[in-house]
Amino acid sequence: MSNALRPLIAGNWKMNGTGAALSEVTKLRNHLSGADLADVDILIAPPATLVERFFQAVKGTAIAVGGQDCHASEQGAHTGDVSAQMLADAGATYVIVGHSERRSDYSETDSQVKAKAMAALRAGLTPIVCVGETEAERETGRANQVVSEQLAGSLPETESPDRVVVAYEPVWAIGTGKTPTLADIAAMHTHIRSKLTKRYGAAGPTPRILYGGSVKPANAGEILAIENVDGALVGGASLLADDFFGIISAA
Ligand code: PGA
Repeated sequence: MSNALRPLIAGNWKMNGTGAALSEVTKLRNHLSGADLADVDILIAPPATLVERFFQAVKGTAIAVGGQDCHASEQGAHTGDVSAQMLADAGATYVIVGHSERRSDYSETDSQVKAKAMAALRAGLTPIVCVGETEAERETGRANQVVSEQLAGSLPETESPDRVVVAYEPVWAIGTGKTPTLADIAAMHTHIRSKLTKRYGAAGPTPRILYGGSVKPANAGEILAIENVDGALVGGASLLADDFFGIISAA
């Protein structure tokens, strides 16, 4: 990879997996045991019910565990929600916030996403803040503007921007098998980098920028080689250890 930042390959299992899926973690552990992992960070974000069991299963390995969402509050009357502290207590070190499925299924706004990212930082978790345009927004030439607005509204205030990860996930590329051209990914990541530099300053540490949307072993190498692509957020292809290991190997 031509990039200076250590890549992060993150798997987002979404609402998939019961205890039986732990066999994929064991398989991934076996794949990774002989691999040279000095240059890559690896994360799996399983459903909340599996965070603790995944944590136990990956102890002593290079695999980190994350949540897929958190509440902006630490505790209280929020039936069905999970706080960042609870995820940290279960062994998570990262949490995805503002995924487009949360933004559309629950009408999550940028300010709610920002509050969640701030809660994650308070709990000692690294938030992965997701942004990305819809197909209609891209077709009408508004992709950069939409992503700029999402970044402005969703990014947390922090003195440690290297504790923040941004994931660029064009909504139309998620789970569809479609991906932007390499040139379009490069252009958007350059755009995001310039926004991050303005937001957090040019000197010192900077957030990593992941690309997400139909990443698979066959396209991971060329996507991860793009400047300012500091890793990948992988949905479908993270569910099977063989596929996920193929992507990790490309980093
Ligand atoms: P996909 O999902 O890899 O299945 O396209 C990516 C994501 O939603 O994070």
